[in-house]
Amino acid sequence: MEKIIDLRSDTVTTPTPKMLKCMMEAEVGDDVFGTDPSVNKLEEMAAGLFDKEAALFCPSGTMTNQIAVFLQAPPLSEIIIEESNHIYQYEVGGVAFNSRASVKTVNGDQGKLTQDQIMNAINPDDIHKPKTTLVCLENTTNRGGGATYSLEELEAISEICKRENLKLHLDGARLFNALAETAIPTAKIGGLFDTISICLSKGLGAPVGSLLLGDEGTIRKARQVRKVMGGGMRQAGFLAAAGIYALEHNRERLADDHLLAESLRELLKQQSYIKEVFNGQTNIVLFDLSKNYSPKNFLNFLNQHGILAVQFGPQRIRFVTHLGLDSSVLEPLAQVLPLFTSL
Ligand SMILES: *Cc1c(COP(=O)(O)O)cnc(C)c1O
Repeated sequence: MEKIIDLRSDTVTTPTPKMLKCMMEAEVGDDVFGTDPSVNKLEEMAAGLFDKEAALFCPSGTMTNQIAVFLQAPPLSEIIIEESNHIYQYEVGGVAFNSRASVKTVNGDQGKLTQDQIMNAINPDDIHKPKTTLVCLENTTNRGGGATYSLEELEAISEICKRENLKLHLDGARLFNALAETAIPTAKIGGLFDTISICLSKGLGAPVGSLLLGDEGTIRKARQVRKVMGGGMRQAGFLAAAGIYALEHNRERLADDHLLAESLRELLKQQSYIKEVFNGQTNIVLFDLSKNYSPKNFLNFLNQHGILAVQFGPQRIRFVTHLGLDSSVLEPLAQVLPLFTSL
């Protein structure tokens, strides 16, 4: 049987034999007691990388984001976020459910906010208004199609947040993808944000896990919030070992995923039934089918040829590259894509 080309997400990767070996050999303990050496090592490693004081290992990026919001946006407050970002779109309204905070969405460019948009979205000091306390950014953007922030943009945003006394959180589920393109040092990023979420289970290829980074006090409180959310895990070192392996071995290769994504964009641009292929810098490829072509039919057609992808809007399809794919997928795709004709 032909090999499946799975472009649905970078979360579909399964541990490689080398990663599995590290997991099997992990030294473990009870992490709720704080005595799992592998989890402690991963947390120290991640915090050190970004020059933050501390880190907390959690089951998912949703949990690290939600803990960050909970700690920095109390009831009667408001967060500012770009409307396509994950925290607003894909976390089940958790800002309302967990934090009882309000959300001000801003329509940005490719999932990104500017300093001016943030300035304009801050509420005045008025008893009718929730108090603006937190700004959340996403880098690289997902629904925004793999756009990244430049260092200058991030510095400008960080500066106004400090000036306006707002906390700044980064949803960095794919932060390493962004950094592979913009070459901003991790320690520099750490200095610009109060809290950062990074995911191990996306492009880095670990099976499970996300880390929340911040100062000692914030992470101490975060540990308690993780517990109330049911995220305290016992011998989590087996998972942390995969994370350590991922941080050590799978960061540099992300640039390969980006090259493959760019080749896919070029290939897609040649298809007559595709109206627009969006520019992106990382491993997220978004494109719109022309009006008369049904995304369902397109996905079924791909499926019949062993190619998996997802719908991402009324006419929009998403392809994501990851470590389970390489340039050998280009040839079969170049053969299959032009065959789609059904209206
Ligand atoms: C995947 C993702 C998350 C976290 O998702 P989980 O599935 O909860 O780990 C957060 N933000 C962005 C931008 C993501 O793509």
